[in-house]
Amino acid sequence: MSRVYNFSAGPAMLPEEVLKEAAAEMLDYQGSGQSVMEMSHRSKVYDAIIKEAEKDLRELMNIPDNYKVLFLQGGASLFFAQVPMNLMKNKKAGYILTGQWAKKAYQEAKIYGEAVELASSADKTFSYIPDCSDLPITDDMDYVYICENNTIYGTKYKTLPDTKGKILVSDISSCFLSEPIDVTKYGVVYGGVQKNVGPAGCVIAIIREDLITDDVLPGTPTMMKWKTQADNDSLYNTPPCYTIYICGKVFKWLKKMGGLEAMKKHNEEKAKILYDFLDQSKLFKGTVEPASRSLMNVPFVTGNEELDAKFVKEATAAGFVNLKGHRTVGGMRASIYNAMPIEGVKKLVEFMDKFEKENS
Ligand SMILES: *Cc1c(COP(=O)(O)O)cnc(C)c1O
Repeated sequence: MSRVYNFSAGPAMLPEEVLKEAAAEMLDYQGSGQSVMEMSHRSKVYDAIIKEAEKDLRELMNIPDNYKVLFLQGGASLFFAQVPMNLMKNKKAGYILTGQWAKKAYQEAKIYGEAVELASSADKTFSYIPDCSDLPITDDMDYVYICENNTIYGTKYKTLPDTKGKILVSDISSCFLSEPIDVTKYGVVYGGVQKNVGPAGCVIAIIREDLITDDVLPGTPTMMKWKTQADNDSLYNTPPCYTIYICGKVFKWLKKMGGLEAMKKHNEEKAKILYDFLDQSKLFKGTVEPASRSLMNVPFVTGNEELDAKFVKEATAAGFVNLKGHRTVGGMRASIYNAMPIEGVKKLVEFMDKFEKENS
């Protein structure tokens, strides 16, 4: 068996320990004589799995009691519609456009009401986070929406926007559990788990209780009404059982690693190695303004498309895979999520250094 260093933006690397444990339990989960894939989501044994996952997540993120944790399907992309359906009482909301995922959420919201662009970094190809200290937020807006870590462009909010008292809704898909956050600052914080938490198939949404009501837009499907999911502890219908089980194992792994403070340190250390290299390189350049750099997704270019392609090809052959940038932006992108060990980043930088010497 030989495992590669996988820099995929998602689905992405998982901790090897978690995969090994899952393999060991594949045919017989803790004496049940079944795989978790085969068991009823209404069984006692599965109930313990989902409850324990929620308990561990609450502990890791320090989630207050007045927030519900929902395990949902449809990906972050379906959640883009759930936000206006559940929150647009006045049919008006503010969106900060920092990249493709924020834009998609904004476009989806326009189906249901008035989505207002509050700020944007489109003028410089989304290479920075705009100043959000005094946004044109009006009283009639139901919420302010952000994408906190921009997976494609590699930017991250270092301070949250001043929402002038409005509910903050944040997509944290690609920075989920990468560092501690203060949940009380948000009305809704959610993410698809396939970037930094688990396998594809589940969105975890953490929602302040008072925002979960029957007062939703007419025509909202039962499944997309947060109240349905909350009233049924995410078991209204069959949840993505196996994905939740693996997420639960990742939560245990994170606890063992020292929790989110420790993860933050680990992630900062990894990102510094890569950014320090990019800052001194004469061949490779980071594309993001230093003050807005993500700890998770690091895009870079050589400035020459042919050389980019050569780099990606040679890196792949050397065991550093999925380094090609997003199809809409080109260049390279190294996603260095929680599960990427520090050696993976060190070895990538050694490889980049060697490539630079051979190609200059
Ligand atoms: C990947 C991603 C999405 C889309 O996720 P799906 O689960 O594929 O719908 C949305 N937002 C962010 C920040 C992402 O990284």
